[in-house]
Amino acid sequence: ANLRAQDTPYVPPTSLPTSSSQTGSTERIQIIDDQKKFTPDLATQIERWGLRDAGFSYNIVAVFGSQSTGKSTLLNRLFGTTFDVMDETKRQQTTKGIWMCRGKDMDVMVMDVEGTDGRERGEDQDFERKSALFSLASSEILIVNLWEHQVGLYQGANMGLLKTVFEVNLGLFGKKAQDGSNGRTLLLFVIRDHIGQTPLANLQATLTADLNRIWESLSKPTDLKDRLLSDYFDLAFTALPHKILSADKFESEVQELRTRFVDKESSDYLFKPVYHKRIPADGVAFYMEGIWEQVQTNKDLDLPTQQELLAQFRCDEISAVALAEFNEQAKSQKRPVEGGRVVEGLGAMMNNWRTQALTRYDRDASRYHKGVYGRKRVDLVAVLDSTLSPLFLGQLKNLHKSCLVTFKKEMLDGLHGEDYDFANVFQTARERSERTFSEGGREALVEGTDWSWEEELELLRDEIRAVADQCRKDETTKMINLIERNLKKHISEPVELHLGKASPDMWDEILRVLRDTLDKAERTYLTKAKGFNCTEEENAAALDALRKRAWVALRVKIDEQTADPIILGKLRNHFEERFRYDEHGVPRVWKPDDDIDDAFKKAKDQTLDLVPLYSKISPRDTSLEFYLPSESNDSFSNDDFDLSASLVIFTETKCLDLTNKFRRDADAYYVEAKRSTVASIAQ
Ligand code: GDP
Ligand code: MG
Repeated sequence: ANLRAQDTPYVPPTSLPTSSSQTGSTERIQIIDDQKKFTPDLATQIERWGLRDAGFSYNIVAVFGSQSTGKSTLLNRLFGTTFDVMDETKRQQTTKGIWMCRGKDMDVMVMDVEGTDGRERGEDQDFERKSALFSLASSEILIVNLWEHQVGLYQGANMGLLKTVFEVNLGLFGKKAQDGSNGRTLLLFVIRDHIGQTPLANLQATLTADLNRIWESLSKPTDLKDRLLSDYFDLAFTALPHKILSADKFESEVQELRTRFVDKESSDYLFKPVYHKRIPADGVAFYMEGIWEQVQTNKDLDLPTQQELLAQFRCDEISAVALAEFNEQAKSQKRPVEGGRVVEGLGAMMNNWRTQALTRYDRDASRYHKGVYGRKRVDLVAVLDSTLSPLFLGQLKNLHKSCLVTFKKEMLDGLHGEDYDFANVFQTARERSERTFSEGGREALVEGTDWSWEEELELLRDEIRAVADQCRKDETTKMINLIERNLKKHISEPVELHLGKASPDMWDEILRVLRDTLDKAERTYLTKAKGFNCTEEENAAALDALRKRAWVALRVKIDEQTADPIILGKLRNHFEERFRYDEHGVPRVWKPDDDIDDAFKKAKDQTLDLVPLYSKISPRDTSLEFYLPSESNDSFSNDDFDLSASLVIFTETKCLDLTNKFRRDADAYYVEAKRSTVASIAQ
């Protein structure tokens, strides 16, 4: 592109309709107008030039010099810019202020300072000073444009201008220059209408001497009084032939000079990195506006403060942009999480959004003041995390809930039927549930935070334990009920049998039945309970319950078998067997000399002896007392059991009542027997 630019015939930029350039890249802008007002459009313009995202990969150059010394003409030739040039035929002044253009095919912002010639006209030195401050604060190269015949005129306008530049520079970079950063600026002297009689070297020597003299004459602050001009500035000199008298030579030498701005490989490349003022391209507009504001209000221009203000403003902006996109992303999962869903891959998403936002912030903001950048980053991280945190916690809650539901379901499914092993079912379900939770929790973690899911896992564990305990209780109860049913079945018949026999060791027999059945039931329980991981206390309680229920079942059976009609039936049978049958079981036929009275009395007394036997449960074998309710029997303590009553089948009143009822029955048999002998005599 550079070669072509040199080969193609030069078209004066003034012939271009500058106000309506077709492409943004050749547009120019008046950043400071003749009312000394800063434009609000610079940021937009830099964007239109395509330089906003250039970071530090751009350059700024400004030109200084007396009026109508061909400054704009030079810039247009060097950078392909479109600054106004005074119309020769009308000799009309160009508009005052500071103009800016982007270099054609170059990432360069070029500033053209159009001032009235303050010193010569005795007016507006103020603007000169302000524009010098402004240019030095941002430019890498200051082109000082002057006629050859101005060289050596120490008192001339240019020298006054330079004095201003030096003073201003001391104020701006005086303290900072020593660390070698930011402060250094190149002064490029371009000597115009160089006739050639005086070699450039001589002109350069004269100028250098003048510059040093000016430097010496400055009243510097005491701490800077030993500083040299070369501590702050590099000097470069070049001369150009007369534009009209040696037009061809003028053009070719301008092109030569241009390559020094373009060719980065060249040894005399002018935009050395050390001159860069390190303002990121996207902050240039804000920075310049701030500088101008300070300059305008005649405040001391404190560049570090300006850079910090710039950093604050820009880092906030950059942060806001990053945050806006992040919020958009985070919003998408807010509803599902709040709705109770476990969002698949939420952790990956959150990490992604966070990293994206921070990467975006870092890319743009890290170019600014390190301290500000760092502080704003901490703020940004806090905001990001305060948005992610509810999602993380919500995810854990939902995960917790769903794991618990799955656990319950698995337990219920597993505890089906008779053959399950409780411990096994519980273990499997618990492990699966905890694993699912841990995996989900780990996935949801956001890198860079100190969040953890372990506490929530503990809560889940507690609930799992509670559910399991409940299940175990339910299952134990079911099991005991089952055992109880079996037990009832087993005692029913033997008890009936033994109660029917009414032998003296009747209760021993009955309690033995109870003992054997209960022993079997307890063994069944203990075998099953092994799988339930029951505690000793739980087992003891269950066995107590079993013993008590067995007792209650036995009592129910006994009560049923000793209800009035049944017990009277039993007594009657007993009596009949003794009174109506002989010792061989043969029915008696009473003869007149049979002692009916004696037989009757015997049978009746024997039968009445049964009433006290039935009336109280009392084994002869004392070892069986273990199965009876008593104060000393733990199974029956702490209960609303009426201990004294529980062994009593018939109270004394009841015994009397039964005895009377039986007597009546027996008397009837006696009468009947008497009658039968009378009848047999009568035959
Ligand atoms: P500025 O006011 O410093 O920006 O000067 P301009 O670029 O507007 O030019 C002022 C006048 O000087 C115009 O008429 C130009 O044609 C003319 N001019 C530009 N360059 C040169 C030069 O190198 N030598 C001479 N003698 N005139 C020039
Ligand atoms: Mg001009």
